[in-house]
Amino acid sequence: MSRYIATRAIRGANLIVQEAQALLDKALAEKGPQTPVAFPNTAYYLPLINGLLGQEVSTLEGLVPVMARAQELLHPLPASHRWTPYLGETLDSGIATLLAEETIMAVRYVYGEQPERMPGFHLAGSFTSPDEPGKNGAGHLNGPIDDVQLRAWGIQLVDGRMPGFAAIVGCAKSNEVAVKIVRELQRRNILIFLAGNVNGRSIIHQLQEEGVEMGYDTYIVPFGTDTISAIYALGFATRSALTFGGLKGGQAREVLLYNRARVFAFVLALGEVDDLKYATAAGAISYGFPVIADTIIPQILPTGVTQYEHVISMPFDQIPGANDLERAEKLVQKCIEVRGVKVRVTEVPIPVPYGSAFEGEVVRKNDMRVEFGGKYSRAFEYLRMAGWDEVEDGKIQVVGPDISTVPEQGHMDMGIVVDVAGRKMQKDFEPVLERQIHYFVNGASGVQHIGQRDIAWIRISKAAAEKGFNLRHFGDILHARLHADFGAIVDKAQVTIYTDPPKVAEWLERARAAYNERNVRMAGMKDEDVPEFYTCTLCQSFAPTHVCIVSPERVGLCGAYSFLDCKASYEINPTGPNQPIVKGRLIDPEKGYWEGLNAVAVKNSQGKVNDVAMYSIMENPMTACGCFECIVMLIPETNGVMVVSREDTSMTPAGMTFSTLAGMAGGGLQTPGVMGVGKYFLTSPKFIKADGGFKRVVWMSSFLKESMADALKEVAEREGVPDLVDRIADERVATTVDELSAWLEEHGHPALMMPPIF
Ligand code: SF4
Ligand code: ZN
Repeated sequence: MSRYIATRAIRGANLIVQEAQALLDKALAEKGPQTPVAFPNTAYYLPLINGLLGQEVSTLEGLVPVMARAQELLHPLPASHRWTPYLGETLDSGIATLLAEETIMAVRYVYGEQPERMPGFHLAGSFTSPDEPGKNGAGHLNGPIDDVQLRAWGIQLVDGRMPGFAAIVGCAKSNEVAVKIVRELQRRNILIFLAGNVNGRSIIHQLQEEGVEMGYDTYIVPFGTDTISAIYALGFATRSALTFGGLKGGQAREVLLYNRARVFAFVLALGEVDDLKYATAAGAISYGFPVIADTIIPQILPTGVTQYEHVISMPFDQIPGANDLERAEKLVQKCIEVRGVKVRVTEVPIPVPYGSAFEGEVVRKNDMRVEFGGKYSRAFEYLRMAGWDEVEDGKIQVVGPDISTVPEQGHMDMGIVVDVAGRKMQKDFEPVLERQIHYFVNGASGVQHIGQRDIAWIRISKAAAEKGFNLRHFGDILHARLHADFGAIVDKAQVTIYTDPPKVAEWLERARAAYNERNVRMAGMKDEDVPEFYTCTLCQSFAPTHVCIVSPERVGLCGAYSFLDCKASYEINPTGPNQPIVKGRLIDPEKGYWEGLNAVAVKNSQGKVNDVAMYSIMENPMTACGCFECIVMLIPETNGVMVVSREDTSMTPAGMTFSTLAGMAGGGLQTPGVMGVGKYFLTSPKFIKADGGFKRVVWMSSFLKESMADALKEVAEREGVPDLVDRIADERVATTVDELSAWLEEHGHPALMMPPIF
C-alpha cells in the first residue's frame, strides 16, 4: 500500500466526516431530531448504512450513531517515517467516507437538495420523474436508484445480458472522449453510473452537451456532479447484496464479500484525483471494485497482503493509439480486463450501433423517419420452422417498396417472416424464438420495437435512416442474433420482409392461423400431461438458495421463462440453468406436491427448503429471488389475497408498498402467505388452487386489471363469477384494510363467502 494514497485517503476521510458531522448538527438544530430522513422508493432505508451497520435510519436522530461510528473509523495521517503498509487504516477511512457521504445525502434530502438539479437537463424515461424542466429551467438528475429499477435490472444482471456496472467519476479529456467511453460501455451492455467533476466540469455536462440521452432506459444514470453522489453506486451495490443475496442489514462482511465475488463493477476516475476521490475510492476497494484512473497516480497491484485491492493508473495521453477515440476504447478495454467482467458482443452488420443498452430507447414522433404498426398501419412478425432444404442461410429479401417511398414521419404496413431450420429445432420452439425478435430488433440504436405477433409496432429514427438503416437490416440483425444466441437449435435462418400490400395481407393471414394454432396447443398443455417440469436456477448467481420450478401451468416468477422457454434453453445448453425434473410420485394433487420436486427443492436450496407446494400460498409456497412481476399476499381480515404489481408504487392494504413488500418476498426464503409470481400465473387454473384459486383475489393493482383485462375476464368466467374483476378492489378505492373490507362487503366479493383461508 502506497503511503501517498494512504495519506490522501485518510486526509479526505477526515475532512468529509467533519463536514458531514457539521451538516448533521446543523440539521438537528434547525429541523429537529425527529425529522424523517429517507431516500425515495426504497425499502432498504439508507442502504449503505443499513447494509454495513444494520441500522434502519428513519429520522435525523438515527444518523447520530452512524456519524459516531464514522468518527471511530478515522485515523491520524501516517507519520513520514513510518514504513508499514497502511491498508487497514486506508480501508477504514474508505468506509468512514462512505458513511459520511450517505449521511450528507440524507440531510440534503431533508433540505430538498436532492436529486441535484441542472440547467437544461432532461432525464430520459424515468419512473420517478416528478417534474420536467421548464419550471425553473433545471431538470433533476437521477439520484439513488429505486427498488423497482433495481429489480428490473436484476434479471439482466443474472442472465448475463448486463455484465456489471461502471461508476465514472470526474470529467473526460474532451466531450468526444466522454461520448466514446459511454458508447463503448453501452455496446457491452455495462450499466453506467456518472458522478463527480473536475474543476466544476462533470462528464454529465459533457454528455448533455453532446445530446446523449441519460436515464434508466439508456443504461446511463447521472447521479450528481459532485464526488459525494458516487455514494449512490455503492448504495446500489449494497442493495444488490440484500435483495438478491438474501443478506440482512448489518452483515457487513458478507455484503462486501458478495459484491467482491458477484458484482462485476469498477470505478473509472477521469481527470485529477483529489483527496475526497481517494477517500471514496478506498471505500470502493472494500467492495472489491478496482479503481482505474486516466491520470498518473501510484498504483496498487494485487500482492499477498492486498489480494483484491487494485488501483490502476493509465495516463490518458500515454495510452497507445492513433487518436483519442482509440485511446478511449483501450481505456474501457483495460477496465474490463482488470475486473474480469465477462462480456459477449455479437457483431451485427448494420450501419448503427448495436447492443442491449439500446433496447429501452424510445423514438419520439418528431425524431421518427417511418413507423410500422401502431395507430396507422400494421406490422407483424412470424417465425416458423421449415424443412432443411427450404431455408437458405443468410438469405434476406425485401418484397415490396422500400422506406424511401414513404414521406417523413409516415407509416407503412410490414411483415417480418423468419424461416429457421436446425437438427434440434422443434415446432414448440417457434414462439420462444419469435419472442426474441423484440429484443433483437430493439438492440439497434435508433430503432424502437414494441409488442409482438400481429401487434408489433416498430419505429426507425431519422438519425438511423440517415446512417443508412433500411428494411433489410432487420434481416441482418435477426440472422446474426439467431446464430449467436440460439446456434444450438438454429442451423439456418432466412428472413423475408414484406411491404407489398397484397403479400402483407396474404402472410398476415398465414401468421394468424399459426398464432391461433399455438394458442390452442399452449392452452391445452396441462401440468398433468407432461412427465417432467423444469428448474430455473438462473437467479442463483444472485439468490444462491432460490430455484424456480416452471411447469406448463406455472410460468417462472420473472415472467420471462415459460415451460417452453425452459425446454428450449435446456436443448441449447444441456448443462445450463434449466434442467428437467422428473415429477416422480404424486403426493398431493390439490396442493401440488410431487416427490421428485421436493427432492430438487432440497438440493437446489442447499437444504433451506424441504417441500414445495406448486399450488398453494399458505403451505410451503415457492421461494422467490427478487425478479417477480407481482407479489401475492394474504390479507387475513378479508379471507383473501392481494396482488400488487411491480409497476404500482402506491400504498397497498397490507400497509406496505411494492418495494417494501419485495424485501419480505425475496431472498430465497419460504414465507407462508407471501409469494412472488409472474403475472400470467394469475390466469392459470393452478394459481393457489389449494387455497381457493383466483376467487381469493380481493385486491389487485389497477395496472394489472387494465393491462390484462381480456385474460382476466376469461378467468372470471372460468371461475363462474363473470363480473369478478369488477368486484376486486384496487389502489384507487382501497389502500387500507378497513377501506378494503368495506368495499368488498359493498360489492359482494365471493371470498367473503368462502371457507376460512387458514
Ligand atoms: Fe430467475 Fe426464476 Fe426467472 Fe429463472 S424463472 S430467471 S430463476 S426468476
Ligand atoms: Zn430472479
